[in-house]
Amino acid sequence: MTPRPRRLPRPIPTTRTADIMTRVHNFCAGPAALPEEVLKQAASEMLDYHGRGLSVMEMSHRSEEFVAIAETAERDLRELLNISDDYAVLFLQGGASQQFAMVPMNLMGEKRKADYINTGQWSIKAIKEARRYGTVNVAASSEDTAFSTVPPQNTWALSDDAAYVHYTPNETIGGLEYSFVPETDKPLVADLSSTILSRPLDVSRYGLIYAGAQKNIGPAGITVVIVRRDLIGRAGEQVPAMLDYRIHAENGSMYNTPPTYAWYLAGLVFKWLKAQGGLTHMATINRRKAEKLYHYIDESGFYSNPVERHSRSWMNVPFVLADDSLDKTFLKGAEGAGLLNLAGHRSVGGMRASIYNAVPEAAVDALINYMKDFAQRHG
Ligand SMILES: *Cc1c(COP(=O)(O)O)cnc(C)c1O
Repeated sequence: MTPRPRRLPRPIPTTRTADIMTRVHNFCAGPAALPEEVLKQAASEMLDYHGRGLSVMEMSHRSEEFVAIAETAERDLRELLNISDDYAVLFLQGGASQQFAMVPMNLMGEKRKADYINTGQWSIKAIKEARRYGTVNVAASSEDTAFSTVPPQNTWALSDDAAYVHYTPNETIGGLEYSFVPETDKPLVADLSSTILSRPLDVSRYGLIYAGAQKNIGPAGITVVIVRRDLIGRAGEQVPAMLDYRIHAENGSMYNTPPTYAWYLAGLVFKWLKAQGGLTHMATINRRKAEKLYHYIDESGFYSNPVERHSRSWMNVPFVLADDSLDKTFLKGAEGAGLLNLAGHRSVGGMRASIYNAVPEAAVDALINYMKDFAQRHG
């Protein structure tokens, strides 16, 4: 006997459209702002992706539709960063933090030794994780300046037998950024989580680049790894399949179920970046946004940023108020003005404005206006 068909639930009524919603200016360090156009497109494709009658989230990762989404995303990323065929592009899980482990497991080789440069909180985490696996030589550190400088390369004590050199081009918490690409004959490994896609990058200088998506690529849950193909396949037998670059490269990052929706959204962001005019254009805007904000901070006499000028981050701008008892008032007022997530990292306090690609120049202008007004009232 066939059961009686159950009545379908009534569709959920849509009450508001994206157009009449007020979006705030979001300065979150991560998960960070996404371009409004990307969110609108994702919303419009949510229930019915390109007439297929289902959402991207509900598709098999082996389906023709999803494979096309995945391949297009990779192609667009390759185009944006001008990545040559000598490199594999992987879309993985586990965040940048998992790369802290995967990098040594895959690249340290028999000698189990690597050089690391310590410029702040993320370097420290990468070093700590690598030490579980082998010998880490901290070739340079700016801890003695409270991470307000990048140690110049002529002060680095690199070792001859290191398998690679690891550094953190942009320290998201300290707001410290390298103004140069290190020179080395070893594979150069970079944690570009918070600065990838902010400007053009010469990928050929690197052995391996990794970046968690939730700063400048897309939503949390996916991690991009760009790795020179000759560095793949060096993991020992004991390395689990999910932590072996070779397994992921051989399977087009689909050894297991990939984070399909995050991959799709990252792909929309890549398309958006191309439509903006690519990374040269983003660099112009990002430089202007950062310069404006630092310029105001420096001349304000009320706010300050501790980082040496030529090592200041374009993406993460930490600053403190002259009187830190005003911090709460500052943040509350900012929230009232639609300026969100300006509190500094819990480990350092103060303020931090993260001004990634998806944060428009108008948001930076609005922030500066609020800061001026606040300084006038409380200075
Ligand atoms: C955010 C961040 C990380 C950690 O990323 P997860 O994806 O949370 O693991 C590592 N390094 C840098 C530079 C970051 O900005």
